[in-house]
Amino acid sequence: MRVVDLIRRKRDSGEHTREEIEHLVQGYTRGDIPDYQMAAWLMAVLLRGMTRAELAALTQTMLHSGQVLDFSDLPARKVDKHSTGGVGDKTSLVIAPVVAAGGLYVPMISGRGLGHSGGTLDKLESIPGFNVNLSLAEFRRVLAACGCGLIGQTAEIAPADKKIYALRDVTGTVESPNLICASIMSKKLAEGIDALVLDVKTGSGAFMKKEEDAVHLAELMVETGQQMGKRVVALITDMDQPLGRTAGNALEVQECIEVLEGGGPGDLVELCLELSAWMFYLGGRAAGVEEGKKLAAEMIASGRARDKFREIVRLQGGDEGVLEDASRLPRARHTADVPSPGEGYVGRMQCEQLGTACVVLGGGREKKEDTIDPAVGLVFHKKAGDAVKRGEALCTVHYNSEERWQRARPLVETAYRIGPEAPRDLPRLMQKVIGA
Ligand code: URA
Repeated sequence: MRVVDLIRRKRDSGEHTREEIEHLVQGYTRGDIPDYQMAAWLMAVLLRGMTRAELAALTQTMLHSGQVLDFSDLPARKVDKHSTGGVGDKTSLVIAPVVAAGGLYVPMISGRGLGHSGGTLDKLESIPGFNVNLSLAEFRRVLAACGCGLIGQTAEIAPADKKIYALRDVTGTVESPNLICASIMSKKLAEGIDALVLDVKTGSGAFMKKEEDAVHLAELMVETGQQMGKRVVALITDMDQPLGRTAGNALEVQECIEVLEGGGPGDLVELCLELSAWMFYLGGRAAGVEEGKKLAAEMIASGRARDKFREIVRLQGGDEGVLEDASRLPRARHTADVPSPGEGYVGRMQCEQLGTACVVLGGGREKKEDTIDPAVGLVFHKKAGDAVKRGEALCTVHYNSEERWQRARPLVETAYRIGPEAPRDLPRLMQKVIGA
């Protein structure tokens, strides 16, 4: 089988057999197929698309390029949640302890920030000592002991994705629904889960800006997961403005602790309850989503979710004192308020710009080798639809470098638009459920 013939076939909109896809993915992972040929094939896939059979073959080949974890010895169902990412999207830190406290296992393998969007691992690492680089044996021990574990992708999990993702990142081939689906689902299905809830974001701060693109990706992922015998649903949720009140790693951890203590902003609480509810439902702990929501709310009100979070932090080497004393989290040396330029109402926000501002402040990576400043970020006082007076603070920026703040400043200032009337067509947080 000649790789050049496979590239030409896809270039001309042809279809591959399973064996051909295995040849490409396995050959590339082993190092037998060079980057330039794989990049050409990935670009052909991005431009020409794939059939559902090709997508299933690609996902399965990537999944089986490494270990598929087996937690069948653990006495309850294993469920996870995956979000396609956005700004202030911190639900994993709340959901994992809520769902584990409610009796299911949550083996969560998460990612780092990507582009303007934050990542669960970077948020967790803002807790002093928290170790996201557990070996698979340690991960299993933590999961068995407390019902959940939160780690990063290891060399053993879907190594084909790791290699292909790095190539896509630098060859303009990230934005393909088929390649995104195979990448996400190969990693998630390697976790040995029974059920998966996908939070597919749409809006100005999401990778899928248009709702129809988010729905298409959701349908691909749900179908791929279901074909492999898993219970999978996808919620299409709003990312046209940041979720909750903060963006930035330590600030977001603090906000999650507030939610686990029964407080926190309404949109974040609502989404955490909704996602947890679906996990309880798919994991067989609730007869329906409403019952699941009650169970999730009970886990928070009783303090059991907070206790579970403490246990996770302790077992993964973190400073559990941050739960009582937020000043143990990294704090930026400076803050600056961004005042409203006029009186009126906040219109739709440029959410991606706010995420990029956070990266520029040092909260994300501009280059692969950059280290993160966990303390910096944004606290949002006003969001779309809110009334505001001239000079009132729209948000507060936490920063450590004046030069970075001056670079981020125009991004933050122009992300807000103030108009004379309240906008009428703000997107709802929860938009659709696919696959239920
Ligand atoms: N996240 C992933 O894990 N893979 C993608 O391709 C895009 C987002």
